[in-house]
This record gives sequence, structure tokens and C-alpha cells, in this order.
Amino acid sequence: MDIQEIQKKIATVSDNYAKHCSINRDDDWYILKLQEEIGELVQNYLSFTGRGRKREKTDEEIKTDFANELADVVGQVLLLAQHHNINIEEALERKWFKYLK
Ligand SMILES: [Mg+2]
Repeated sequence: MDIQEIQKKIATVSDNYAKHCSINRDDDWYILKLQEEIGELVQNYLSFTGRGRKREKTDEEIKTDFANELADVVGQVLLLAQHHNINIEEALERKWFKYLK
């Protein structure tokens, strides 16, 4: 699966979520939602690294929660890029992959 394919699937999920929950995703919603997801990621990271509440979860469940929050952050980054017509593949080439040459 390439990034464009992933973005398409994530956009469909986000569209369904917004419709189901009656959420108006205006221009700054995308970055605000990303900030919310980063907060959830940090909360789960603290649990994952033994510095947060375990909430009666097993280590495996805590690791899965951490992975799921990473997925939320990646999803929101891709939605934010798409909303602002940013080609994330081009940006990765420009910002990261230039160091591979
Ligand atoms: Mg989340």
C-alpha cells in the first residue's frame, strides 16, 4: 500500500467519522485534532514506559494502545497534509530522502 492509497482510506474513515458524529472539519480542525491525538499518544507512551497508569491492562494491551495512538497520529498527519493540498511524498523526498543521495 502506498501513501496515496493509505491517504484515500484514511480520508474515507474520517469522512464517515465526521458525518456520524456531526463534526464540522473546518480549516483548523485538522491541526487541532492532530494535537489531541499527540496528547493521547503521550499518555499511552507514559503507560508503555512505566510512567503512567496501567488501568488494569496487560503489557501487551498497553503496547497495542501505544501502537494504535501512533496510527492515529500518522492518520491525522496525512489528513492534515491532504486538507492543505500538501503532497507528503514530495515533502518526504525534499526533507528526508535527500540525505540518501
Ligand atoms: Mg487516539
